[in-house]
Amino acid sequence: MRIVKMAGKGRIDMVDGPEPVPASGEVVVETAVSALCGSELHTYLGEGLPEGNNGHEAVGTVVEIGDNVSGLEIGQRVGVSAIAGCGHCEYCAKKQYTWCPEFKFYGNMHAERFLASASSCYPLPDDVSWEVGVLITGDGLGVPYHTSRKIASSEIKTVAVFGAGPVGLSNVLMQAHLGRRVIAVDIVPERLAAAKKLGASDSVNAKEWDPIERVRELCDGIGADVCIEAAGRPETAMACFNAVRTAGTVVFNGEQGAFPLSPSDQFIRRDITAVGAWFYHFCEIDQMLQLYRDGLPVTDLISHRYPFADTATAFEKFSSGQSSKVLLHYS
Ligand SMILES: [Zn+2]
Ligand SMILES: [Zn+2]
Repeated sequence: MRIVKMAGKGRIDMVDGPEPVPASGEVVVETAVSALCGSELHTYLGEGLPEGNNGHEAVGTVVEIGDNVSGLEIGQRVGVSAIAGCGHCEYCAKKQYTWCPEFKFYGNMHAERFLASASSCYPLPDDVSWEVGVLITGDGLGVPYHTSRKIASSEIKTVAVFGAGPVGLSNVLMQAHLGRRVIAVDIVPERLAAAKKLGASDSVNAKEWDPIERVRELCDGIGADVCIEAAGRPETAMACFNAVRTAGTVVFNGEQGAFPLSPSDQFIRRDITAVGAWFYHFCEIDQMLQLYRDGLPVTDLISHRYPFADTATAFEKFSSGQSSKVLLHYS
């Protein structure tokens, strides 16, 4: 079986790997489409992995079923959540696997076949294509949807998205679809152009403007109701706190380590709320499917498609910053 090995320092090797063997509660899925996620770039450009890859957004056909699996059959088309729960805690009962204290991550989805937890397989209805399926069951749309549930107030009219990579762009699409005015901030012209196509009313190139001043200016001088940090950088996070209106909300989507925040300056004196949003809940896939059926143009997020054999080229393009969602197609 062919599988992508992330060799590190920007190298992708296509190697032969062992066939996956399902344990109790697991299935093997033959891949139809997998998607590249920004969270893989750190591994890709950095140290790599001793074997395999951390691909975690994929759809395909169930080809093998382990013991103690019910509700799935051979030949079934499924989308897969990479996060699976223990199956017996209060969060798992609500299909909120990311909150399960014993959640498990399934990777290696850039491969001809991969292992998945049966509880994390979502049967795809016939009106859902592979490409739509990989977006609504992967975190490509999942993160922005999960985020949208945390900023659901009807008083929110203007959302500024800082960082127009795949997650930022997907936030633009989601928030614009929900009827908010969206301002996209980035330094790459191609990404800003993509944001405009996905529904942003304004774009701010932070190389040409002071992004804080510009966002405030575009929001009657008072700032955006919500600023979403989707770049994963301390300076972008600080820009979010400074560009949000008094009593507004800052959302953290981009992963990053510690940096100094002052309770007085960033929170207390301006009544700011900050929230984190990670991944999505398996139970939210139904709602994302409904949004798609109501007209959310999810496939507009796709900028590039490559055959599986060209995975190296796909990652090169993806890491250039000049793409939004990049998909691998398996024949
Ligand atoms: Zn991801
Ligand atoms: Zn659990």
